[in-house]
Amino acid sequence: MPLYSFRCDEGCSFDASYTMDEVPRKRACQQCDASAVRIITSVNLSRAGTAAFRAVESSLRSAHEPDVVSKLPHQAGRSTPITTNPLHATLPRT
Ligand SMILES: [Zn+2]
Repeated sequence: MPLYSFRCDEGCSFDASYTMDEVPRKRACQQCDASAVRIITSVNLSRAGTAAFRAVESSLRSAHEPDVVSKLPHQAGRSTPITTNPLHATLPRT
């Protein structure tokens, strides 16, 4: 996701990731909660898309916007069945 720069009325500057169709023109400041506007900066594509960039971006994002999970990891279960044959469902379970 692209990184957009914002500056608030109090003078704080920060970056935030958004998809290109979701980036707001204004948002709340991450540090002081004042109104912050998006500022236009040069595009930095040199590191975008690399594994290191994705790892840093994911780490930074998880501090403020942790992923929402619906199940505990040990309750995840199998997402796809081992077999699709309906007769196998009638076999005894161990
Ligand atoms: Zn601020």
